Amino acid sequence: MPDPVLIKVDPVGEAAQVTPAINPKINHPKINSPTANTPTINYLRISLIDRCNFQCQYCMPDGETIEYLQRTMLLSNDELLRLLEEVFIPLGMTRFRLTGGEPLLRRGLVELVQAIAQFPETEDISLTTNGFLLAKLAEPLYKAGLNRINISLDSLEPEVFDTLVGSKGRSRWQDVWDGIQAAYQAGFDPLKLNVVVIPEVNDHEVEALAALTLERRWHVRFIEFMPIGNEALFGSRGWVASEDLRLRIRDRWGLTAGQVAGNGPADVFQIPGALGTVGFISQMSECFCDRCNRMRLSADGWLRPCLLNESSQLDLKTPLRQGEDLVAVRSQVQELITQKPEINFKERDAGTTGRYGRTMSQIGG
Ligand code: SAM
Ligand code: SF4
Repeated sequence: MPDPVLIKVDPVGEAAQVTPAINPKINHPKINSPTANTPTINYLRISLIDRCNFQCQYCMPDGETIEYLQRTMLLSNDELLRLLEEVFIPLGMTRFRLTGGEPLLRRGLVELVQAIAQFPETEDISLTTNGFLLAKLAEPLYKAGLNRINISLDSLEPEVFDTLVGSKGRSRWQDVWDGIQAAYQAGFDPLKLNVVVIPEVNDHEVEALAALTLERRWHVRFIEFMPIGNEALFGSRGWVASEDLRLRIRDRWGLTAGQVAGNGPADVFQIPGALGTVGFISQMSECFCDRCNRMRLSADGWLRPCLLNESSQLDLKTPLRQGEDLVAVRSQVQELITQKPEINFKERDAGTTGRYGRTMSQIGG
């Protein structure tokens, strides 16, 4: 059999070509539109909570003091829905991902999903979770209209997993595995599993994790470890380039180009004959800023145009709570969208240096 060729899939694909929807109820400013060099900014990642029931080493290192938000500082469901309806949707946002911290800890999550799914402009609503509470919530979330789910699963070995996620005394692995099965049974398709690869911690499991895609329609995505959250671990262990992982998987089974809905910045491949796919998110070894179509809204209402650049964030909660006219807020957001290509981190030191004021759990990873 000839050696399969590695073909790169254009990861922007479907996301960049979506036409922004217009809400007729609202007086619209000029909506954001793509140019030859910039995609439409149509994807909002919404952090619902900064707290988490795990303490993953790469995200919230042990002993680190993290200042949590008071409950009153979080945007309420009503506030969030108002911002979506009056600010983001009129500006062309049609794809929403709920994240955190751990979004399943958020009260009223199912109702929130239902409300977002009911906006006629919503084209996609997805969620990223550690899966610990998913066994009970998978079905209600599916029925509420959640389209897609990403579950973090860094290891198939309970001991490694527990060390990584900071299980204190009681193993968490089985609960997460049960959550994944429940999501699969509920009908989530695609169902994606996120793996942050850390040298000498879980990198020996890459083939075992990739093998999950052989007989299940699961999509395993390997993510390069970024220097956000735990600089000490990053400094001592570093990160593994996606290319190395790809070669290992290719050497074992071969790889061809793959496809999966909502692939975002992942390069997607398939082991020949497998039901699922393997994806690689290579924010350290590769710069995909120029095709970035996303903005991030923190749980306390700060809009962030770039994960890795902390400048130019916009506070949306204060004007909202002070009863200011949201048309003005929308204009500010519109302006920020226009500036995004300049704000994007791009090749600035390839993301390998610099301090980040907030962890992934605070930003909304
Ligand atoms: N708690 C949920 C979870 O873990 O899936 C959602 C929030 S978490 C911040 C979102 C994603 O960010 C997870 O897939 C996690 O693995 C990833 N993440 C956190 N810290 C990271 C880091 N330093 N480098 C790369 N990915 C990271
Ligand atoms: Fe929690 Fe997710 Fe961060 Fe792990 S990666 S500590 S599960 S927010």
